[in-house]
Amino acid sequence: MTISDFTKAAADGDLETLQKGIEEFKNIDTPDQDNQTALGKAVLAGQLDAAQMLLNAKASAKVKLNGDKTIIQWAREQKDNDIAFLILLYNYMDRIAYSANIWEKTRKTFKRPDDCRYCDICSGKIQEEDSLALDLDEVFESIPYTDRLYQQCLALQAPQFRNKDRKEILDYVKEQIKNNNKSDCYMVCDHCTARFFQNIVYGNCQEDLVEAVNEIMDGAGSGKE
Ligand SMILES: [Zn+2]
Repeated sequence: MTISDFTKAAADGDLETLQKGIEEFKNIDTPDQDNQTALGKAVLAGQLDAAQMLLNAKASAKVKLNGDKTIIQWAREQKDNDIAFLILLYNYMDRIAYSANIWEKTRKTFKRPDDCRYCDICSGKIQEEDSLALDLDEVFESIPYTDRLYQQCLALQAPQFRNKDRKEILDYVKEQIKNNNKSDCYMVCDHCTARFFQNIVYGNCQEDLVEAVNEIMDGAGSGKE
């Protein structure tokens, strides 16, 4: 099977061939001659089952779909679209697992019982259940957040920002954060998520997404008992 056969199976919703490809290819995110991955083709063709099969096999939604947009960025802009919802749901589940992992590591570094972690945006105290991890690129994708950051930078009147436009200033700040922050990730409180990262985390379907995640978590919990 070639990569083109594989991505075509995704576009056609040919689940049998798709499953064979998932088992055969080491990297299921390899782009075809149209520069699309199998997940991208499933999304563009509206093939829900194929998309789910690929997401279950850990296909990436952070690859480019069309133009400059990634699959996840496309999904955030959709309304009442089952595939977009599925993409956002898998992304959210991954985020919860990633956050749990970071908290586990963080707790190992705590020395005293009252040690805690602080929100990387507002510096308020946070717990695992009221925080979420965002990677640095996502943080800088948020217009409400970058708007505020840009205004803060202007207010500083720092010489390094003189004669620079918005993008140049934000790129500079992002680079500084990258150089100073080993983890490349922000842990953000619920309040700051609601204020700045609503669209990044939930797209247009926060209520349905939270409900679906709770159902999955309840299901996982009762399965173990
Ligand atoms: Zn906060």
